[in-house]
Amino acid sequence: MEIVLSGIRSTGHLHLGNYYGALRNYIKMQDKYNCYFFIADLHSLTTHPHPDDFHAGVRTILAEYLASGLDPEKSAIFVQSDVPEITELYVLLNMIAYKGELERTTSFKDKVRQNPENVNAGLLTYPVLMAADILIHRANLVPVGKDQEQHLEVARLLARRFNTLYNAEVFPEPQAFNFGSDLIKVPGLDGSGKMGKSEGNGVYLFDDEKTIRKKVMKAVTDSGPTEPGSPMSESVQNLFTLLKIVSDTATVDHFTKSYNDCSIRYGDLKKQLAEDICKQTLPIKARIEEIYKDEAYLQTVVKRGTEMARESAQATMKEVKKAVGFKSFLKSDDQ
Ligand code: AMP
Repeated sequence: MEIVLSGIRSTGHLHLGNYYGALRNYIKMQDKYNCYFFIADLHSLTTHPHPDDFHAGVRTILAEYLASGLDPEKSAIFVQSDVPEITELYVLLNMIAYKGELERTTSFKDKVRQNPENVNAGLLTYPVLMAADILIHRANLVPVGKDQEQHLEVARLLARRFNTLYNAEVFPEPQAFNFGSDLIKVPGLDGSGKMGKSEGNGVYLFDDEKTIRKKVMKAVTDSGPTEPGSPMSESVQNLFTLLKIVSDTATVDHFTKSYNDCSIRYGDLKKQLAEDICKQTLPIKARIEEIYKDEAYLQTVVKRGTEMARESAQATMKEVKKAVGFKSFLKSDDQ
């Protein structure tokens, strides 16, 4: 059975980008594949969260994973830092990752632009840690959004390089996976770019009805089409992209037609969009609230997931160490 791995950082709440770009694929994959889904707490350290806040998000994301439909009976669900083999592999992969190629990744360049005062080595090697997350389970398929395509290319490059350098077929080359034909990019409500946790432009699975309506009604638009068939501005295109994701075809057709014949009222479009988002997310919100409180259940889920993840990670590290020529100087009982 093919192996699937994916994860989401433990900062804040999950938004529609995470849900439609990543989680919905996770859920569909559980029945067909051998799945590992994790909460990426180590990845969130690049921004130096306060120690009191660092782990607070883990429980939130865990509850949101489960409420969205991840099933601990079908998938291994675990926290990245509970599997120390990941960091062990990260160190080894860093030795074959080159500064120039890491500096060229778009996400690194973006982060440097956004936070020039915090360009740490962890930020530069973020794709290497991500490669370790994937390769430690020798995963074949990685359900991620379009924004992660380049990072996956780094993972493939490192897998190939490791296999060639050590003349061993340890790692398969992981591929991005989406059930639809294209990887989904969920736009933000602020007129341009993607919906993101750090962009502050998101609708969260945990938002209540009032908040969702308020956010959607405030979304950036333009002054409206002036003649039939006018091209759409990016901000209006984004609203249509969201509508296509959450609404039915008849609704999308209705607003497309009214845009094209210039009768559209953006207020109506936003009202419908907010309603359709609520229809999708409010039942999930109710489940999040229940699961978040259930400490015993959360512990059982993670205990089982960690055991499965470590078993797979240890088996990989055994092969990795053999290939690299890594031996403990201390003699163990079976040597
Ligand atoms: P992050 O929130 O950056 O940790 O991303 C976790 C997962 O959500 C990754 O698989 C991303 O590709 C996906 N994701 C995040 N934002 C979006 C977005 N706006 N559209 C599509 N997928 C997204």
